[in-house]
Amino acid sequence: MRFLLYVFVIAFFFNCKAQTATGTLASNKTQTEINTRPKLVVGIVIDQMRYDYITRFYDKYRNGGFKRMINEGFNCKNNYFNYIPTKTGPGHASIFSGTTPKYHGIIGNNWFDKTLKRKVNCVEDNTVESIGTDSNDGKKSPKWLLTTTFADENRLFTQMKGKSIGISIKHRGAILSAGHSANAAYWFDYDHDGKGNWITSSFYMDELPQWIQDFNASDVTESYFKEWNTLYDINTYTESGNDLNNFERIFKGKESATFPYDLEALRHENGNYKIIAESPYGNSLTTDFAISALDAEELGKDNITDVLTISYSSTDKVGHDFGVNAVETEDTYLRLDLDLERLFNALDEKVGEGEYTVFLTSDHGAQYVPDYLKSKKIPSGLFDLSQLFDDLNELLLNEYSVSDLVLSRINNQIFFDHDKIMANKLNLKELKEKVSLKLLSYNLIDKVYTTSAINHLEGGKGFLEDMLRNGHNQKRSGDIVFVFNPSVFKDTHWNRKGTDHHSGMTYDTHVPLLFFGKGIRQGSTFARTEIIDIAPTISALLGISFPNGATGAPLDFVIEK
Ligand code: ZN
Ligand code: ZN
Ligand code: ZN
Repeated sequence: MRFLLYVFVIAFFFNCKAQTATGTLASNKTQTEINTRPKLVVGIVIDQMRYDYITRFYDKYRNGGFKRMINEGFNCKNNYFNYIPTKTGPGHASIFSGTTPKYHGIIGNNWFDKTLKRKVNCVEDNTVESIGTDSNDGKKSPKWLLTTTFADENRLFTQMKGKSIGISIKHRGAILSAGHSANAAYWFDYDHDGKGNWITSSFYMDELPQWIQDFNASDVTESYFKEWNTLYDINTYTESGNDLNNFERIFKGKESATFPYDLEALRHENGNYKIIAESPYGNSLTTDFAISALDAEELGKDNITDVLTISYSSTDKVGHDFGVNAVETEDTYLRLDLDLERLFNALDEKVGEGEYTVFLTSDHGAQYVPDYLKSKKIPSGLFDLSQLFDDLNELLLNEYSVSDLVLSRINNQIFFDHDKIMANKLNLKELKEKVSLKLLSYNLIDKVYTTSAINHLEGGKGFLEDMLRNGHNQKRSGDIVFVFNPSVFKDTHWNRKGTDHHSGMTYDTHVPLLFFGKGIRQGSTFARTEIIDIAPTISALLGISFPNGATGAPLDFVIEK
């Protein structure tokens, strides 16, 4: 013990001398920090994963997936989204940039652009070309994302030597996670000329790498057109409702939403390769692709940290189709658990156990479908938005004799035609008041705010007021925001079955947050953490700058010091 102390003292002395001598050598401590950086950070997003999917299915998970993260790593059990709307685009942007739509600008999957006067997608970019397909599915980039991700900061910090790659079936899941300076983002094109392919855009490269061309040419994807039956005896799925019920969407060509699902027989009536994405096999395919990327993209091969982001989309697609209480959803999670085990084993083998760091979270949760809740006497409902749009324009036409003053009601926001308001010399404030009162008169609308009022709302972490402020981007958001009653979502033909997500209620905001691997402590907490804390935590672990708009803080108790 004493000998060790001497060694340290001498080492410290020599180090100080070396520093004074050259003035450039790094101190011991910094050197240590550099050496403890993981070779690879893997950021995993499970699309539409509620926190209780950890606890509800816990006894059925095996030891190598979710449970490995919990047993070896850190479990933040009380982790929340802190803004509205809880959708995929904003979710991914917030996880990786450490801030909310107020700053990163991704206010929805789609929104109404006030300048272009049309709906835009959060990753659309008509200035780039599709690579790997001649469909338009590749014309995508992160250009609408206003801030950096931690992967961007890692690129800057390492003189672009640390790689970043984003992978997801959904383009927004791949693109927004990897950030602006990514080497690549790859996503899946469902059906072009009868084939499903992993693709990218000219924002990243001019040609698909050979390994992806080989992957697309292989029969890996095709092999998932098989029967989907439950992993275990269906009678053991006691954590979920009956397979046959009135609350699930039915694939075309099926009589009922019940096992087994013959994906080969169903493919042509259900979007061809799209049906793979709507089954747990979409997650298996994503895992196959991610494991191939580890070797082919040489991730985690040297001491300069690389970043791999993997977003599992099929959980969201299965969730939308079958809902929170479905055997189909449970089975999808039990199978995802096996895919995670396979991924972690591949990381152990290819990067080395203890050489990489993983976090796992979700981009939003989901609620039980309203008809199911009603059957259990819990207040809920569906709101018909198409009628609302016409109602508002009719109201304004009667008041001002000007037609179509409301241009859009997307994401529960009202966008007025400001040109028309100016041209007709209308009073915007008065217009907002009239429309707000009308909105409040609807049964299932609970709260209405003009967006000019939102920044003055009071209410701390976890309050609706805080979530509205954080979700509101002055330049991109609409003139009025309205909030449905709890457990209400928009009525579309599809939404009557399965599920949806959007709100600031806990069913949409409470999601898992697990860390494990290099630099991560073992433990758990019930202290409140927020989704915007993830990127600062990873940045702190790496010793790099936080993403430039970060508003979260490092989770001190997660990191080994
Ligand atoms: Zn999502
Ligand atoms: Zn079913
Ligand atoms: Zn969704």
